[in-house]
Amino acid sequence: MVLVNVILPLPLDSAYTYQVTCDVPAHDLTGFRVRVPFSGRSLIGVVSSMADRPPEKGRLAVVQEILDERAALPEELMRLTRWLSRYYLCSWGEAARAALPPEGQARTRLFVALAQPDVVVRGAKQQAVLEYLVQSGGTRAATEVLAETGASHGTLRSLEKRGLVTIMESDAQPHAQRVTGDTIGEERFHPSQRAAADALRSALAQGDYRTYLLHGVTGSGKTEVYIDALQHAVAAGRSGIVLVPEIALTPQTVRRFQSHFGSSVAVLHSRLSAGQRYDTWRRIRRGDFRVVIGPRSAVFAPVQDLGLLVVDEEHESSYKQFEPAPRYNARDVAVMRASLNGAVCVLGSATPSLETMHNARSGKYRLLSMPDRVPTTDGSRARLPEVRIIDMLAERSPDRPNPIVSNALRVAIQKRLERQEQIILLQNRRGFAPVLSCDTCAHTPECPDCSVSLTWHKQRGQLRCHYCGRAFRSPSACASCGTGTLEPVGAGTQRVEEVLGDLFPAARVLRMDMDSTSRKDAHHEILNAFGAGEADVLVGTQMVAKGLDFSRVTLVGVVDADAGLLFPDFRADERTFQLLTQVAGRAGRADLRGEVLFQTRNSRHPVILWARRHDYLSFADAALATREALGYPPFTRAVRAEFRGPDEAKVKAAADRFAKVFRATATGMELVGPSPAFIVRVRRHWRYLALVKAPRSVSAQRMKQVFDHVLGGVGRLPKGVRINVDVDPLGML
Ligand code: ADP
Ligand code: ZN
Repeated sequence: MVLVNVILPLPLDSAYTYQVTCDVPAHDLTGFRVRVPFSGRSLIGVVSSMADRPPEKGRLAVVQEILDERAALPEELMRLTRWLSRYYLCSWGEAARAALPPEGQARTRLFVALAQPDVVVRGAKQQAVLEYLVQSGGTRAATEVLAETGASHGTLRSLEKRGLVTIMESDAQPHAQRVTGDTIGEERFHPSQRAAADALRSALAQGDYRTYLLHGVTGSGKTEVYIDALQHAVAAGRSGIVLVPEIALTPQTVRRFQSHFGSSVAVLHSRLSAGQRYDTWRRIRRGDFRVVIGPRSAVFAPVQDLGLLVVDEEHESSYKQFEPAPRYNARDVAVMRASLNGAVCVLGSATPSLETMHNARSGKYRLLSMPDRVPTTDGSRARLPEVRIIDMLAERSPDRPNPIVSNALRVAIQKRLERQEQIILLQNRRGFAPVLSCDTCAHTPECPDCSVSLTWHKQRGQLRCHYCGRAFRSPSACASCGTGTLEPVGAGTQRVEEVLGDLFPAARVLRMDMDSTSRKDAHHEILNAFGAGEADVLVGTQMVAKGLDFSRVTLVGVVDADAGLLFPDFRADERTFQLLTQVAGRAGRADLRGEVLFQTRNSRHPVILWARRHDYLSFADAALATREALGYPPFTRAVRAEFRGPDEAKVKAAADRFAKVFRATATGMELVGPSPAFIVRVRRHWRYLALVKAPRSVSAQRMKQVFDHVLGGVGRLPKGVRINVDVDPLGML
């Protein structure tokens, strides 16, 4: 009798034993996905081990289906997910779910593979096919290529005749092509780049685990260093994973990796359907790719013989998963995975998270610094852009009490328009106005389901809740007093766009925010148009602050540099500093000199002043000192407990009970709260929060014991109330 222990994607600590009656060879099934019955449902779980005897009580249930031909989670990923469950205080089954492929079917059909990279052809359809193949990793199903590009079978056949693509019956790797990359080549590395690349090469040659922080200012050439290290890992027969914050926002970076590694790189974008993702996953598992690029979930890519993990922009919050459990940070998982594999991990950023900086200073990670930008083509030193602070309090006048664009910014924009240079404006809020206020009674419309004010979307004539998505027709008069008019307070990206239109009627403006990019490929189109010089100004939310590299951008304006400072969160300063520094880094990246304007009402705020001087190190010194004094991460271990449910009294009671049991159990740890969350109601659910702060000397294992004990002591929660546990939370909101 073949028996297996199966872990399930539920918050249950134990594995369950099932009998295998399917026709399988009697080998070790550990890591295989199986479909099993569980309390009236059918679930997909993972075999955690073979079992030697049936459970003592209960009926022995039977595995319904074995989904894999080989383990979906190789031993290494079983160990990694085991660690994940202990560290992030969730079940092993939940942790494993994060690493599993999407459900999908393997099919036999025709595939198209790129046979020659970097070719430009005349026909638009042919070109579209080639570009699609480059973007999607070199080999795709023919049906997909046709659907995505609008090309016909005839197009594919002419490309095949010209030797530009290969059409074949399986997605096996075609004969590997030599790929000519457009990267700069090691002989041109500047000195600190050279030093960083050398350090990584020798670490790779040693073949031991090690983590590096690559701290390089924006435009210092970090991507070239990653590529060099990847080449060395691949040359040594190992594979690499590159994590990027958001594929759609970093097409330029992705293209550089592709032009270097051609069809041996898999790109896991969110645009892929579940079936496509499954295909790619299966090919990675089979060993078809040496390099995988993707967002946070790519940290679990089942590559073989992992030698290098790169986490680009390691400070980015998109590496953190919020829902569902495991609430992991892919950066930290990358470090752990590297250590399990004797691999090298590189965390790169111009503005490292304070956690990572602290680890580099304490010697846990090694620090590689690239303090200067890549020299310009004439060999002179490219400098970081000049930043000017515009005091918006001084800009106020009776007829312009709350100007959105200051005189200085207006003049600076005018100058760029005349010189046909480009401008990026950051306003980290979408919609037209974040708040409407009645001019008679000061009433502000709020979402009926969430405790937040509604954002006015003027073009659509709607008030929208940015938390739950509900939309309402904009009222013509105040709903509270019935007579007053609702006036917009503050500005979102749409309002900035409108103001620009009024000031500069001839300027061509593009807007990039969640509203303008909801359509598939919209990101691509906006960035391509801006890159091709089809617009003068790009206005957007934090989306415009990420890795964009446009050589004609010489002006960056931050419309409201204070926006992030006001949040009651221990990371508010860090976030603001990072955002300001990153967006400033978009200016003057090539031969043209860059200028940056921060509009602020806090012109002496230290965060604004450090960002102005691009002075990460002073910022980090001060911020780390504050964190230490207040006992926040990275000096303590933090775990956030969120209590939520539709009935406030029950939520509060559960939170209070948790706090009581916790304080009685966990000596030596501090519990802050519970208290109502900053946004206390979302989608009709009340939210209470408590924060556990423990000394760093408390091990992850001890933390798990404490939580198991406390949650056991809290017992059954009232109906509808949930507790979500978040280890290393990104914020207290
Ligand atoms: P970062 O990732 O640090 O922002 P990049 O790797 O994108 O920097 O480099 C910025 C620009 O400089 C890119 O266009 C890149 O191709 C180019 N570059 C990088 N290193 C060099 C070098 N040593 N010499 C010339 N150009 C370089
Ligand atoms: Zn809402």
